[in-house]
Amino acid sequence: MPDLKISEIFYSIQGESTYAGLPCVFIRLGGCNLRCNYCDAAYTWKEEKNQEIESILSTIDTFSCNLIEVTGGEPLIQKRTPELLTRLLEKGKTVLLESNGSIPIDKIPDGVIAILDVKCPDSSSGNSFHPDNLRLIRKRLQKSSGSCELKFVLSSKKDYLWARDFVIQHALTGLLPILFSPVQQRLTPPDLANWILEDILPVRLQLQLHAALWPDISRGV
Ligand code: SF4
Repeated sequence: MPDLKISEIFYSIQGESTYAGLPCVFIRLGGCNLRCNYCDAAYTWKEEKNQEIESILSTIDTFSCNLIEVTGGEPLIQKRTPELLTRLLEKGKTVLLESNGSIPIDKIPDGVIAILDVKCPDSSSGNSFHPDNLRLIRKRLQKSSGSCELKFVLSSKKDYLWARDFVIQHALTGLLPILFSPVQQRLTPPDLANWILEDILPVRLQLQLHAALWPDISRGV
């Protein structure tokens, strides 16, 4: 079996989910099938090294942290990612998986907290959300151990209106946590906050915590 392609493994503060603020070990996998114009992890598109799952688990053990996030790039383009997730669960870890939403989520093991992006029009990756994933999310949430969150990263008012309509059209509020996050330098948090309040939209405004904490550090945080 081929190894996993790894970009980096590091310890930081979780910044973009309902787990934001907690210490977390990140396994950042290499490679991505999208090219978002605000990508802050573009180095993962090419820069990667092969690492066996046993070796990744040994590295994880050195951190003594129970919260682990597998991210990318896009983790689900690698066939062995579900195996890595299963092994982490077997070690008793709380496991988050961040995916860009473009790949069906049916291979993600139960027990993993799946955090899926829905790419908005001004990301340059609009229309990438896989058409099966809304059905798979509902199926996942029916299981007692199934968990999922949806994240919209917004560049503009156009993105906000698109995301708002997506959430309403698919009756997603109340079903799972919905995260609205502004792209830094494109959309101000107060503008986004005001739009959410005006629409009385039950979504969670999310700021990129790691970017606020370490604005001058572009990786490993
Ligand atoms: S999906 Fe994520 S890693 Fe891939 S290009 Fe978009 S922001 Fe970058």
